[in-house]
Amino acid sequence: MTDTLVPAAEAARAEVAALRLRTQMLIDGQFRDALDGTRFTTHNPATGQPIADVAEGGPADVDVAVAAARRAADDGRWSRVSPGDRKRILIRWADLIEANGRELGLIETIDAGKPIVDTVGLDMPETATCIRWHAEAIDKLYGQVAPSPEGTIATITQEPCGVVGAVIPWNYPAQMAAWKLGPALATGNTVVIKPASTTSLSLLRIAELGAEAGLPDGVLNVVTGPGDTVGEAIGRHPDIDCLAFTGSTEVGRRFLTYAAESNLKRVLLELGGKSPQIVFDDVTDLAAVAANVAVAIFWNMGENCSAGSRLIVHRSKRAALLEAIQAELANWPVGDPLDPATKIGALISRGHMERVLEYIDIGRAEGARVVTGGQRILEESGGWFIPPTVFDGVRNDMRIAREEIFGPVLSVIEFETETEALALANDTPYGLAASLYTHDFDRAHRVARDLKAGVVGINAYSEGDMTTPFGGYKLSGFGGHDKSVHAHGQYTETKTVWIQLRSAG
Ligand code: NAD
Repeated sequence: MTDTLVPAAEAARAEVAALRLRTQMLIDGQFRDALDGTRFTTHNPATGQPIADVAEGGPADVDVAVAAARRAADDGRWSRVSPGDRKRILIRWADLIEANGRELGLIETIDAGKPIVDTVGLDMPETATCIRWHAEAIDKLYGQVAPSPEGTIATITQEPCGVVGAVIPWNYPAQMAAWKLGPALATGNTVVIKPASTTSLSLLRIAELGAEAGLPDGVLNVVTGPGDTVGEAIGRHPDIDCLAFTGSTEVGRRFLTYAAESNLKRVLLELGGKSPQIVFDDVTDLAAVAANVAVAIFWNMGENCSAGSRLIVHRSKRAALLEAIQAELANWPVGDPLDPATKIGALISRGHMERVLEYIDIGRAEGARVVTGGQRILEESGGWFIPPTVFDGVRNDMRIAREEIFGPVLSVIEFETETEALALANDTPYGLAASLYTHDFDRAHRVARDLKAGVVGINAYSEGDMTTPFGGYKLSGFGGHDKSVHAHGQYTETKTVWIQLRSAG
């Protein structure tokens, strides 16, 4: 199957039935069961039905994987491959991901509940693009020669950290893996990566394609299993040099403890968010704003760290914008993620759906008013569906405005003045993303400058592309960024070599 187009629903179901799923861990170039033979079941969020039993690793499997990655790092089988050859292997890998995008998209859709239009149309092309982008940078980034005194030469070069441990979430399983693997492998590291236990399948197939592309054994190792065993073992491992994590702020904090209590490994954290979308009173095309607002909060079922979950709107535009958003929701059908017409699929798990429903109850109890949505739907499917839900009359001190819900729930908050809008936007423990809508050029720049967020979209909801860094202020991030040359540098150590020329003496 090498077609990269989104299939029709019937074809997709037939192709799913024919999928050959990888369910063993990839360690040192071999697909293996867990050392103790344990397995866990992964479910389809759209049906609640089991898909497959996946190898459940534990600390002993992490030890084996780290030992393989250490050998591969120390003997230079990857870091000493010439930059041009390393680039070629990674680009071949990206090409294979792209060529198998339809198969990978189907796997992602059944394992994560994400709409097939997104997995085949966006996630897999973006995964390939990320790996290709970092591969292409390998032979284009130079070291430095310092302005040292006569008779000396000082070079400043970047070297791989060594073994990178990566732990990633379930909301964009393939893309989040690529955001770590692209720069970590391009800079010559070896990697031990753990997917979220709800979504192991796409990464195992992507890793298999990596081996096919020519990644040497031990360079990319995938250990599947739970966070509190495999994740913690990676976090605490004394032979891992750098840790790259994407997930909740709560678990992110633990990685700082793991590092502090083990070998002080470098820790890079991409965490949660409660991002504002500010709409000023001079906007004219409310339908266009509503379309952006909907993407910001409802794309990927709201299971998005940079979701624009707080709509901060000028009092004079609130009613009209709410109407425009409700009209826009006609373009956001909820349903079977394998149907190409579906824009909103299923939430990742029953437990997560229940958590989102609990927040909806909390919002009602706090006095906010549900304008649309607000309950579970499509229960007969066995899946975990919640439609787009909009709360009006939200105050920024309510829990639904302060805590990350990670579901399709928008809180609408009114303001009167620019100062008030900015204060509301920044009144959050998070600082990942923000967007603002205005035609006033001065105001756009002023507010963008004063927003405490890592990524600001003006008249758009956008995270930028592979050329721009992604990361957050405050509780949204720590230690680094994903994407762009900023991501490259963080997987390297800086080395100075000071040379005394003999002729000088
Ligand atoms: P999570 O923190 O529960 O899990 C993330 C990963 O950590 C998983 O692989 C999990 O198995 C592992 N883990 C869980 N407990 C652990 C422990 N005690 N020790 C070590 N590892 C452990 O997050 P999630 O529910 O998978 O993902 C949702 C969260 O991720 C949200 O908060 C979201 O905002 C965040 N996120 C952030 C970004 C970003 O780039 N900033 C991107 C996507 C998701």
